[in-house]
Amino acid sequence: MKAIQKVLEQIRDEELVALTRDLVRIPSVYRPDDPAANESRVASFIEAWFRREGFRVEVQRAAPARPNVIAWLGEAGPTLLLEGHTDVVTEGDPAEWSHPPFAADLADGRIYGRGAADMKGGLAAAMLAAAAFKRAGLTPPGRLMVGALADEEGAMLGVRQFCGTPIGRQVGAAIICEPEQNELCLEQRGVVWARVRIRGRMAHGAMPEAGVNPIWPIGTLLREVPALQRRLRRSAKRSRYLHPPTVTPTVLQAPIRGVPQANVIPAGSELILDVRLTPGIDGDGVHQEIERLCRRVEAAHPGIKVEWEPLGALRLPTKVAREEPLVRALAFAVKQVTGRAPRYGGVPGSTDGTILLTELGIPIVTCGPGNRLIPHQVDEYVEIRELADAARIYAVAAWKFLEG
Ligand SMILES: [Zn+2]
Repeated sequence: MKAIQKVLEQIRDEELVALTRDLVRIPSVYRPDDPAANESRVASFIEAWFRREGFRVEVQRAAPARPNVIAWLGEAGPTLLLEGHTDVVTEGDPAEWSHPPFAADLADGRIYGRGAADMKGGLAAAMLAAAAFKRAGLTPPGRLMVGALADEEGAMLGVRQFCGTPIGRQVGAAIICEPEQNELCLEQRGVVWARVRIRGRMAHGAMPEAGVNPIWPIGTLLREVPALQRRLRRSAKRSRYLHPPTVTPTVLQAPIRGVPQANVIPAGSELILDVRLTPGIDGDGVHQEIERLCRRVEAAHPGIKVEWEPLGALRLPTKVAREEPLVRALAFAVKQVTGRAPRYGGVPGSTDGTILLTELGIPIVTCGPGNRLIPHQVDEYVEIRELADAARIYAVAAWKFLEG
Protein backbone atom coordinates (compact mmCIF):
# COMPACT_ATOMS: atom_id res chain seq x y z
CA MET A 1 0.00 0.00 0.00
CA LYS A 2 2.99 2.27 0.55
CA ALA A 3 3.83 2.23 -3.13
CA ILE A 4 0.35 3.23 -4.21
CA GLN A 5 0.40 6.07 -1.68
CA LYS A 6 3.50 7.40 -3.41
CA VAL A 7 1.70 7.20 -6.75
CA LEU A 8 -1.38 9.02 -5.43
CA GLU A 9 0.80 11.83 -4.10
CA GLN A 10 1.77 12.55 -7.69
CA ILE A 11 -1.81 13.28 -8.77
CA ARG A 12 -2.59 16.96 -8.31
CA ASP A 13 -6.08 18.28 -9.02
CA GLU A 14 -4.87 21.59 -10.48
CA GLU A 15 -2.80 19.76 -13.06
CA LEU A 16 -5.67 17.44 -13.89
CA VAL A 17 -8.00 20.39 -14.44
CA ALA A 18 -5.40 22.20 -16.56
CA LEU A 19 -4.79 19.10 -18.69
CA THR A 20 -8.51 18.52 -19.25
CA ARG A 21 -8.93 22.16 -20.26
CA ASP A 22 -5.98 21.92 -22.66
CA LEU A 23 -7.59 18.89 -24.34
CA VAL A 24 -11.04 20.54 -24.55
CA ARG A 25 -9.51 23.64 -26.15
CA ILE A 26 -8.24 21.58 -29.07
CA PRO A 27 -11.41 20.96 -31.09
CA SER A 28 -11.52 17.43 -32.49
CA VAL A 29 -14.87 17.21 -34.20
CA TYR A 30 -14.49 15.05 -37.29
CA ARG A 31 -15.82 16.61 -40.50
CA PRO A 32 -14.86 14.57 -43.57
CA ASP A 33 -14.76 17.56 -45.94
CA ASP A 34 -12.61 19.78 -43.67
CA PRO A 35 -8.91 18.76 -43.58
CA ALA A 36 -8.45 20.59 -40.24
CA ALA A 37 -11.41 18.94 -38.49
CA ASN A 38 -10.17 15.62 -37.10
CA GLU A 39 -8.23 14.13 -34.18
CA SER A 40 -4.70 14.86 -35.45
CA ARG A 41 -3.99 17.99 -33.35
CA VAL A 42 -5.21 16.56 -30.08
CA ALA A 43 -3.35 13.30 -30.84
CA SER A 44 -0.08 15.23 -31.39
CA PHE A 45 -0.61 17.01 -28.08
CA ILE A 46 -1.11 13.69 -26.26
CA GLU A 47 1.85 12.09 -28.00
CA ALA A 48 4.17 14.97 -27.04
CA TRP A 49 2.85 14.89 -23.48
CA PHE A 50 3.61 11.18 -23.05
CA ARG A 51 7.07 11.51 -24.63
CA ARG A 52 7.91 14.29 -22.15
CA GLU A 53 6.77 11.98 -19.33
CA GLY A 54 9.16 9.27 -20.58
CA PHE A 55 6.63 6.73 -21.86
CA ARG A 56 7.09 4.37 -24.79
CA VAL A 57 4.76 5.70 -27.47
CA GLU A 58 3.33 4.21 -30.63
CA VAL A 59 1.28 6.25 -33.10
CA GLN A 60 -0.99 4.23 -35.34
CA ARG A 61 -2.78 5.48 -38.40
CA ALA A 62 -6.43 4.51 -37.99
CA ALA A 63 -7.36 6.56 -41.06
CA PRO A 64 -5.81 9.59 -42.85
CA ALA A 65 -5.25 12.37 -40.24
CA ARG A 66 -6.93 10.19 -37.61
CA PRO A 67 -4.16 8.71 -35.44
CA ASN A 68 -4.32 6.45 -32.39
CA VAL A 69 -1.76 7.27 -29.70
CA ILE A 70 -0.68 4.35 -27.50
CA ALA A 71 1.64 4.98 -24.56
CA TRP A 72 2.87 2.50 -21.96
CA LEU A 73 5.07 1.79 -18.98
CA GLY A 74 6.54 -1.63 -18.29
CA GLU A 75 7.66 -4.14 -20.87
CA ALA A 76 6.36 -7.49 -19.68
CA GLY A 77 3.61 -9.13 -17.71
CA PRO A 78 -0.14 -8.60 -17.79
CA THR A 79 -1.24 -5.52 -19.70
CA LEU A 80 -3.98 -3.19 -18.51
CA LEU A 81 -5.31 -0.59 -20.93
CA LEU A 82 -6.87 2.70 -19.85
CA GLU A 83 -8.87 3.60 -22.92
CA GLY A 84 -10.32 6.84 -24.21
CA HIS A 85 -11.29 8.38 -27.51
CA THR A 86 -10.00 11.69 -28.87
CA ASP A 87 -12.88 12.61 -31.18
CA VAL A 88 -15.85 14.63 -29.98
CA VAL A 89 -19.25 15.16 -31.55
CA THR A 90 -20.29 18.45 -33.11
CA GLU A 91 -20.91 21.44 -30.86
CA GLY A 92 -24.07 22.26 -32.84
CA ASP A 93 -25.01 25.95 -32.71
CA PRO A 94 -22.47 27.75 -30.43
CA ALA A 95 -25.11 30.41 -29.72
CA GLU A 96 -27.07 27.84 -27.75
CA TRP A 97 -24.19 27.37 -25.30
CA SER A 98 -23.92 29.51 -22.17
CA HIS A 99 -20.16 28.80 -22.18
CA PRO A 100 -18.32 28.78 -25.53
CA PRO A 101 -17.97 25.12 -26.57
CA PHE A 102 -14.15 25.11 -26.85
CA ALA A 103 -13.19 27.64 -24.16
CA ALA A 104 -13.10 25.08 -21.31
CA ASP A 105 -14.59 27.64 -18.88
CA LEU A 106 -14.43 26.92 -15.16
CA ALA A 107 -17.64 27.56 -13.19
CA ASP A 108 -19.42 25.97 -10.21
CA GLY A 109 -16.73 23.30 -9.75
CA ARG A 110 -17.14 22.21 -13.34
CA ILE A 111 -15.23 22.40 -16.61
CA TYR A 112 -17.55 23.30 -19.50
CA GLY A 113 -17.01 22.42 -23.13
CA ARG A 114 -17.60 19.93 -25.90
CA GLY A 115 -15.81 16.76 -24.87
CA ALA A 116 -15.35 17.80 -21.21
CA ALA A 117 -17.20 14.64 -20.16
CA ASP A 118 -17.17 12.67 -23.44
CA MET A 119 -14.37 12.23 -22.96
CA LYS A 120 -11.36 14.44 -22.60
CA GLY A 121 -11.88 14.52 -18.84
CA GLY A 122 -11.64 10.73 -18.64
CA LEU A 123 -8.65 10.75 -20.96
CA ALA A 124 -6.82 13.36 -18.85
CA ALA A 125 -7.55 11.31 -15.71
CA ALA A 126 -6.09 8.20 -17.38
CA MET A 127 -3.02 10.12 -18.58
CA LEU A 128 -2.24 11.51 -15.14
CA ALA A 129 -2.95 8.22 -13.38
CA ALA A 130 -0.39 6.47 -15.59
CA ALA A 131 2.15 9.30 -15.40
CA ALA A 132 1.92 9.25 -11.59
CA PHE A 133 3.63 5.82 -11.58
CA LYS A 134 6.54 7.14 -13.62
CA ARG A 135 6.84 10.31 -11.54
CA ALA A 136 6.82 8.26 -8.33
CA GLY A 137 9.74 6.29 -9.76
CA LEU A 138 7.70 3.07 -9.82
CA THR A 139 7.36 0.60 -12.62
CA PRO A 140 3.94 -1.02 -12.39
CA PRO A 141 4.13 -4.79 -11.87
CA GLY A 142 3.09 -5.46 -15.47
CA ARG A 143 2.36 -3.12 -18.32
CA LEU A 144 0.17 -0.06 -17.88
CA MET A 145 -1.03 1.34 -21.18
CA VAL A 146 -3.08 4.38 -22.18
CA GLY A 147 -4.84 4.31 -25.54
CA ALA A 148 -6.16 7.58 -26.99
CA LEU A 149 -8.06 6.28 -29.98
CA ALA A 150 -9.74 7.96 -32.95
CA ASP A 151 -13.26 7.73 -34.33
CA GLU A 152 -15.25 6.29 -31.43
CA GLU A 153 -18.21 8.48 -32.38
CA GLY A 154 -18.19 7.11 -35.93
CA ALA A 155 -17.33 3.64 -37.20
CA MET A 156 -14.86 2.98 -34.33
CA LEU A 157 -12.00 2.76 -36.82
CA GLY A 158 -9.44 3.56 -34.11
CA VAL A 159 -10.19 0.63 -31.84
CA ARG A 160 -10.68 -1.72 -34.78
CA GLN A 161 -7.22 -0.81 -36.06
CA PHE A 162 -5.73 -1.11 -32.55
CA CYS A 163 -7.12 -4.64 -32.02
CA GLY A 164 -5.29 -5.85 -35.13
CA THR A 165 -1.84 -4.56 -34.09
CA PRO A 166 0.79 -6.48 -32.08
CA ILE A 167 0.59 -4.01 -29.17
CA GLY A 168 -3.21 -4.20 -29.18
CA ARG A 169 -3.22 -7.98 -29.05
CA GLN A 170 -1.20 -7.91 -25.83
CA VAL A 171 -3.92 -6.15 -23.86
CA GLY A 172 -5.35 -8.40 -21.16
CA ALA A 173 -8.04 -6.13 -19.69
CA ALA A 174 -9.31 -2.59 -20.20
CA ILE A 175 -10.97 0.23 -18.32
CA ILE A 176 -13.06 2.35 -20.67
CA CYS A 177 -12.90 5.87 -19.25
CA GLU A 178 -16.27 7.06 -20.65
CA PRO A 179 -18.54 9.28 -18.53
CA GLU A 180 -20.48 6.96 -16.23
CA GLN A 181 -20.40 8.96 -12.98
CA ASN A 182 -17.56 6.69 -11.86
CA GLU A 183 -19.96 3.76 -11.63
CA LEU A 184 -18.56 0.35 -12.50
CA CYS A 185 -20.48 -0.56 -15.64
CA LEU A 186 -20.25 -4.29 -16.23
CA GLU A 187 -22.78 -4.46 -19.05
CA GLN A 188 -23.24 -2.48 -22.24
CA ARG A 189 -26.11 -2.56 -24.70
CA GLY A 190 -25.28 -3.57 -28.24
CA VAL A 191 -26.54 -1.96 -31.41
CA VAL A 192 -27.47 -2.99 -34.93
CA TRP A 193 -28.43 -0.36 -37.48
CA ALA A 194 -30.64 -2.22 -39.92
CA ARG A 195 -31.19 -0.54 -43.27
CA VAL A 196 -34.36 -1.96 -44.79
CA ARG A 197 -34.88 -1.26 -48.48
CA ILE A 198 -38.14 -1.78 -50.29
CA ARG A 199 -38.19 -1.94 -54.06
CA GLY A 200 -41.34 -1.29 -56.08
CA ARG A 201 -41.78 0.07 -59.61
CA MET A 202 -41.87 3.75 -60.67
CA ALA A 203 -45.05 5.10 -62.17
CA HIS A 204 -47.13 8.24 -62.64
CA GLY A 205 -48.97 9.38 -59.52
CA ALA A 206 -52.17 9.58 -61.56
CA MET A 207 -51.92 5.92 -62.55
CA PRO A 208 -50.85 4.00 -59.44
CA GLU A 209 -52.16 0.79 -61.03
CA ALA A 210 -49.27 1.03 -63.54
CA GLY A 211 -46.58 0.74 -60.84
CA VAL A 212 -45.82 -0.81 -57.46
CA ASN A 213 -45.70 1.79 -54.69
CA PRO A 214 -42.86 1.08 -52.18
CA ILE A 215 -44.28 3.56 -49.65
CA TRP A 216 -47.38 1.60 -48.55
CA PRO A 217 -45.24 -1.28 -47.18
CA ILE A 218 -43.45 1.19 -44.88
CA GLY A 219 -46.73 1.44 -42.95
CA THR A 220 -46.84 -2.33 -42.54
CA LEU A 221 -43.19 -2.37 -41.52
CA LEU A 222 -43.71 0.27 -38.83
CA ARG A 223 -46.73 -1.62 -37.49
CA GLU A 224 -44.55 -4.75 -37.18
CA VAL A 225 -41.80 -2.98 -35.20
CA PRO A 226 -43.40 -3.40 -31.75
CA ALA A 227 -43.72 -7.16 -32.37
CA LEU A 228 -40.04 -7.34 -33.31
CA GLN A 229 -39.17 -5.47 -30.11
CA ARG A 230 -41.28 -7.90 -28.04
CA ARG A 231 -39.55 -10.92 -29.60
CA LEU A 232 -36.09 -9.47 -28.91
CA ARG A 233 -37.10 -8.72 -25.32
CA ARG A 234 -38.26 -12.29 -24.87
CA SER A 235 -34.93 -13.71 -26.01
CA ALA A 236 -32.80 -11.25 -23.97
CA LYS A 237 -31.86 -11.90 -20.37
CA ARG A 238 -33.32 -9.42 -17.90
CA SER A 239 -30.63 -7.00 -16.76
CA ARG A 240 -30.48 -5.00 -13.53
CA TYR A 241 -28.54 -2.24 -15.19
CA LEU A 242 -29.81 -1.92 -18.73
CA HIS A 243 -33.05 -0.97 -20.42
CA PRO A 244 -34.49 -3.93 -22.31
CA PRO A 245 -33.97 -4.12 -26.09
CA THR A 246 -35.55 -1.37 -28.16
CA VAL A 247 -36.27 -1.03 -31.87
CA THR A 248 -36.47 2.58 -33.02
CA PRO A 249 -37.03 3.87 -36.55
CA THR A 250 -34.56 6.74 -37.11
CA VAL A 251 -34.39 7.42 -40.87
CA LEU A 252 -37.18 7.24 -43.43
CA GLN A 253 -36.63 8.05 -47.06
CA ALA A 254 -38.30 7.79 -50.46
CA PRO A 255 -37.20 7.97 -53.19
CA ILE A 256 -33.84 6.46 -52.29
CA ARG A 257 -32.20 8.07 -55.33
CA GLY A 258 -33.19 10.98 -57.57
CA VAL A 259 -35.33 14.01 -56.90
CA PRO A 260 -38.59 13.60 -54.97
CA GLN A 261 -41.53 14.67 -57.13
CA ALA A 262 -45.13 15.03 -56.09
CA ASN A 263 -46.49 13.18 -59.10
CA VAL A 264 -44.01 10.32 -59.24
CA ILE A 265 -44.35 7.01 -57.41
CA PRO A 266 -40.73 6.27 -56.48
CA ALA A 267 -38.88 3.06 -57.27
CA GLY A 268 -37.76 2.51 -53.72
CA SER A 269 -38.09 3.43 -50.07
CA GLU A 270 -35.81 2.99 -47.10
CA LEU A 271 -36.18 2.77 -43.36
CA ILE A 272 -33.35 2.53 -40.85
CA LEU A 273 -34.02 0.79 -37.55
CA ASP A 274 -31.80 1.47 -34.55
CA VAL A 275 -31.92 -1.85 -32.71
CA ARG A 276 -30.49 -1.86 -29.16
CA LEU A 277 -29.68 -5.20 -27.59
CA THR A 278 -28.97 -6.55 -24.14
CA PRO A 279 -26.92 -9.64 -23.23
CA GLY A 280 -28.53 -12.95 -24.17
CA ILE A 281 -29.03 -12.23 -27.87
CA ASP A 282 -26.40 -13.21 -30.42
CA GLY A 283 -25.78 -11.92 -33.92
CA ASP A 284 -27.60 -14.83 -35.58
CA GLY A 285 -30.67 -14.32 -33.41
CA VAL A 286 -30.98 -10.66 -34.39
CA HIS A 287 -30.38 -11.50 -38.03
CA GLN A 288 -33.19 -14.03 -38.07
CA GLU A 289 -35.66 -11.70 -36.37
CA ILE A 290 -35.07 -8.81 -38.77
CA GLU A 291 -35.20 -11.20 -41.70
CA ARG A 292 -38.53 -12.50 -40.47
CA LEU A 293 -39.88 -8.95 -40.29
CA CYS A 294 -38.84 -8.31 -43.90
CA ARG A 295 -40.52 -11.49 -45.15
CA ARG A 296 -43.78 -10.58 -43.41
CA VAL A 297 -43.84 -7.17 -45.07
CA GLU A 298 -43.04 -8.71 -48.44
CA ALA A 299 -45.84 -11.25 -48.09
CA ALA A 300 -48.35 -8.50 -47.33
CA HIS A 301 -47.54 -6.50 -50.51
CA PRO A 302 -47.37 -8.51 -53.74
CA GLY A 303 -44.84 -7.17 -56.23
CA ILE A 304 -42.43 -5.56 -53.78
CA LYS A 305 -38.98 -6.77 -52.75
CA VAL A 306 -37.72 -6.23 -49.20
CA GLU A 307 -34.06 -6.52 -48.31
CA TRP A 308 -32.00 -5.39 -45.35
CA GLU A 309 -28.36 -5.03 -44.39
CA PRO A 310 -26.56 -3.91 -41.25
CA LEU A 311 -24.88 -0.50 -41.52
CA GLY A 312 -21.33 -1.18 -40.35
CA ALA A 313 -20.39 -4.16 -38.24
CA LEU A 314 -22.76 -5.47 -35.55
CA ARG A 315 -21.94 -4.25 -32.04
CA LEU A 316 -23.15 -6.95 -29.73
CA PRO A 317 -24.04 -6.44 -26.08
CA THR A 318 -21.25 -7.09 -23.56
CA LYS A 319 -21.14 -8.33 -20.00
CA VAL A 320 -18.37 -9.13 -17.51
CA ALA A 321 -18.76 -11.02 -14.24
CA ARG A 322 -18.31 -9.34 -10.86
CA GLU A 323 -15.72 -11.98 -9.99
CA GLU A 324 -13.34 -10.76 -12.71
CA PRO A 325 -10.05 -9.57 -11.20
CA LEU A 326 -10.47 -6.26 -13.06
CA VAL A 327 -13.88 -5.66 -11.45
CA ARG A 328 -12.49 -6.55 -8.01
CA ALA A 329 -9.54 -4.20 -8.52
CA LEU A 330 -11.86 -1.35 -9.47
CA ALA A 331 -14.23 -2.05 -6.58
CA PHE A 332 -11.26 -1.96 -4.20
CA ALA A 333 -10.06 1.29 -5.77
CA VAL A 334 -13.45 3.01 -5.47
CA LYS A 335 -13.58 2.13 -1.76
CA GLN A 336 -10.02 3.34 -1.18
CA VAL A 337 -10.50 6.62 -3.02
CA THR A 338 -14.06 7.62 -2.13
CA GLY A 339 -14.60 5.75 1.13
CA ARG A 340 -17.87 4.30 -0.15
CA ALA A 341 -18.95 1.03 -1.72
CA PRO A 342 -18.87 0.99 -5.52
CA ARG A 343 -22.05 1.57 -7.48
CA TYR A 344 -22.58 -0.80 -10.38
CA GLY A 345 -24.24 0.20 -13.61
CA GLY A 346 -24.71 -0.38 -17.31
CA VAL A 347 -23.93 1.58 -20.47
CA PRO A 348 -27.02 2.39 -22.57
CA GLY A 349 -24.99 2.40 -25.81
CA SER A 350 -21.85 0.73 -27.07
CA THR A 351 -18.28 1.98 -26.61
CA ASP A 352 -14.80 1.14 -27.90
CA GLY A 353 -14.93 -1.48 -25.13
CA THR A 354 -17.52 -3.37 -27.15
CA ILE A 355 -14.91 -3.93 -29.87
CA LEU A 356 -12.11 -4.73 -27.39
CA LEU A 357 -14.26 -7.38 -25.73
CA THR A 358 -15.58 -8.96 -28.92
CA GLU A 359 -12.30 -8.80 -30.90
CA LEU A 360 -9.81 -9.64 -28.15
CA GLY A 361 -12.04 -11.57 -25.75
CA ILE A 362 -10.82 -9.52 -22.79
CA PRO A 363 -12.78 -8.22 -19.78
CA ILE A 364 -13.70 -4.54 -19.91
CA VAL A 365 -15.29 -2.24 -17.36
CA THR A 366 -16.63 1.17 -18.33
CA CYS A 367 -15.99 3.70 -15.58
CA GLY A 368 -15.27 7.39 -15.90
CA PRO A 369 -16.08 10.91 -14.75
CA GLY A 370 -19.09 12.83 -16.04
CA ASN A 371 -22.85 12.70 -15.88
CA ARG A 372 -24.11 9.81 -18.00
CA LEU A 373 -26.77 11.96 -19.70
CA ILE A 374 -24.55 14.94 -20.58
CA PRO A 375 -22.68 13.62 -23.67
CA HIS A 376 -23.64 15.29 -26.97
CA GLN A 377 -25.72 18.00 -25.20
CA VAL A 378 -25.06 21.76 -25.23
CA ASP A 379 -23.29 23.04 -22.09
CA GLU A 380 -21.52 19.71 -21.67
CA TYR A 381 -19.45 19.71 -18.48
CA VAL A 382 -17.49 17.50 -16.14
CA GLU A 383 -17.50 17.84 -12.34
CA ILE A 384 -13.98 18.45 -11.06
CA ARG A 385 -14.71 16.28 -7.99
CA GLU A 386 -15.56 13.27 -10.18
CA LEU A 387 -12.58 13.93 -12.41
CA ALA A 388 -10.23 13.95 -9.42
CA ASP A 389 -11.74 10.73 -8.06
CA ALA A 390 -11.46 9.04 -11.45
CA ALA A 391 -7.71 9.67 -11.79
CA ARG A 392 -7.11 8.16 -8.34
CA ILE A 393 -9.47 5.23 -8.98
CA TYR A 394 -7.55 4.40 -12.18
CA ALA A 395 -4.20 4.54 -10.39
CA VAL A 396 -5.26 2.32 -7.48
CA ALA A 397 -7.14 -0.12 -9.74
CA ALA A 398 -4.15 -0.39 -12.09
CA TRP A 399 -1.81 -1.16 -9.21
CA LYS A 400 -4.18 -3.71 -7.68
CA PHE A 401 -4.93 -5.42 -11.01
CA LEU A 402 -1.34 -5.60 -12.23
CA GLU A 403 -0.08 -6.80 -8.88
CA GLY A 404 -2.43 -9.75 -9.41
ZN1 LIG B 1 -17.57 8.78 -25.64
